Amino acid sequence: MEATQIKATRDDNKSLFSIPYGLFLVTSSLHGKPNGLIVNTVTQVTNTPNRVAITINKSNYSHTIIKETGVLNVNCLTTKTPFSIFSTFGFQSGRDKDKFEEISYSVSENGLPVLNDYINTFISLKVTDYVDLDTHGMFICEITESGIINSDETVTYNYYQRNIKPRPKEQKPKGYVCRICGYVYEGEELPEDFVCPWCKHPASDFEKR
Ligand code: FE
Repeated sequence: MEATQIKATRDDNKSLFSIPYGLFLVTSSLHGKPNGLIVNTVTQVTNTPNRVAITINKSNYSHTIIKETGVLNVNCLTTKTPFSIFSTFGFQSGRDKDKFEEISYSVSENGLPVLNDYINTFISLKVTDYVDLDTHGMFICEITESGIINSDETVTYNYYQRNIKPRPKEQKPKGYVCRICGYVYEGEELPEDFVCPWCKHPASDFEKR
């Protein structure tokens, strides 16, 4: 057949929302204090040997810890994960808060936390390479231990958006809402260089309401 014109709406990078992602709790530990962070950036990149890449914003404390220690665990969250897990690990910093204070967990052979609930698999990783991506760092890792806990479904980012993230309240103040995590910036104008204090996404991920 002869090629035709693409029928598509050109919409500054919103196309990227069509790429599906899972959501994971990445755990690490520094000086005996465990930390955790929610990410959507866990990808298997090779299979002989098995290697996994995880990309983390440099402003996150987990980036600092993993850069220093070279080890981490990936906890694959399931669709049964309540919003409280996402808010505990996603919307505050481990620099000023013990995120595991009220969380039930075990430890794997590397001494790092594995959640006792809401995960179907854990994978322990050792960093072998690091790629500097300006705002983010990509950790290329080999697997040191892994285990399947149950057959529950891994939660995807879309599932989280549709079924886990709370709906905005009716009486909503005017402002800009982060489409990633729901944080609301109250004000007439959102500064161009604004960064979401909860999920660290830029102003381009906010929409007016
Ligand atoms: Fe956000």
